[in-house]
Amino acid sequence: MENKCQCGGEIKEYDMLFECIECKAKVWKRSFGREFKTKEAMDLLSGKVIVACGFKGQNGSFYDTKVQLVNGEVILIFDEETKSTKICTCECRGEVFKIPKGYKCKDCKKIVWEMFVNRELKLNEIKKLFKGEPIYLKNLRSKKGNVFDAEIYFDGKEIELEYIA
Ligand SMILES: [Zn+2]
Ligand SMILES: [Zn+2]
Repeated sequence: MENKCQCGGEIKEYDMLFECIECKAKVWKRSFGREFKTKEAMDLLSGKVIVACGFKGQNGSFYDTKVQLVNGEVILIFDEETKSTKICTCECRGEVFKIPKGYKCKDCKKIVWEMFVNRELKLNEIKKLFKGEPIYLKNLRSKKGNVFDAEIYFDGKEIELEYIA
């Protein structure tokens, strides 16, 4: 394989994944319920953002989304340009959609913003919140500059915050 990783390292193909021998960036051949083709894996490892189709949503529908390799791991980027945007299912069984700067349940109208205090929430954290599970955030920084850890979760429609000493 003549394709190189964005770090300049060589990419090795294994049964289950493509991996850079230098920085260990990985693209699993099966991830997010979908098969990644060799070309897609090479593009990702070379640092490109690709649009990939055929991701399976929880209700069985398929969607397209942008995909990128960040810190050696494949992440999905949902934005206005990718059309179908169902992210996950809310506790209320409503569909959660991407909105500008956040995510919203179509049925109960709960919203999770991408930014919590100074921290950008990861997609798996956002999904947990919609599922009704708490997430733990470390090193949050208040406007006054205080650094703290907290647990956040939905209490009804509002996100509650509990400080962790
Ligand atoms: Zn690399
Ligand atoms: Zn809901």
